[in-house]
Amino acid sequence: MFERRVAALATLAHEIESCRGCPLGSTRTHSVPGEGNADAELLFVGEAPGLSEDAVGRPFVGAAGKLLDLLLGLTGHARKDVFVLNVIKCRPPENRDPAPEEIAACASFLERQLALLSPVIVAPLGRHALRAFAPDAKISAVHGNPLPGGLGLPLGATLFPLYHPAAALHNGALRPTLERDMGALVRELPAARARWASARGEAGEARLMRKESTAEQAQLRLFEWEAE
Ligand code: URA
Repeated sequence: MFERRVAALATLAHEIESCRGCPLGSTRTHSVPGEGNADAELLFVGEAPGLSEDAVGRPFVGAAGKLLDLLLGLTGHARKDVFVLNVIKCRPPENRDPAPEEIAACASFLERQLALLSPVIVAPLGRHALRAFAPDAKISAVHGNPLPGGLGLPLGATLFPLYHPAAALHNGALRPTLERDMGALVRELPAARARWASARGEAGEARLMRKESTAEQAQLRLFEWEAE
């Protein structure tokens, strides 16, 4: 099952690489399908690749990505424990906001990735990513808490919006908020797991046990780190 999911994600990544569904298909250097642990409980959804991501075809490898790694580290998690992707898979020129038609052209990729990954928590990073799941919500009002009623979420998943790490790089005052919110997200995991498993029945329970072993490893690393 896990192997099949990995293979399906790889097939999807190939499709994204050859996509010409919108004009960004001809301006990009590389598409950025996303990457991480295919069994992850935590899925982080960014807005769109930037310059560094476009250059190498991997998500969050620039300054915002380094801050994301640091925030994850504060909770005992590493990038390899989670999955990271973007709402749109190609860089908009000059890092402008993605256009509605670009978001629409990528929507089925995001939908299929979410269905394959079926994470316990989906964390949109910033207002553009939040809009894909909760078009009327304001990031300043909903960050750092589970948000009921998200659209297009995989069965049983909890939506948990966070500020975009780039926002904290521009405005240092947001950094402690983002640190606090990341802690709150990880503390939400037990309740989110219970919702996820109850929505999925017995098959969900079995898969959750496998997902949890990744989470336990992260917890163990946190204890080791705290003991140092
Ligand atoms: N910002 C995003 O939203 N996504 C990336 O991959 C990098 C920066």
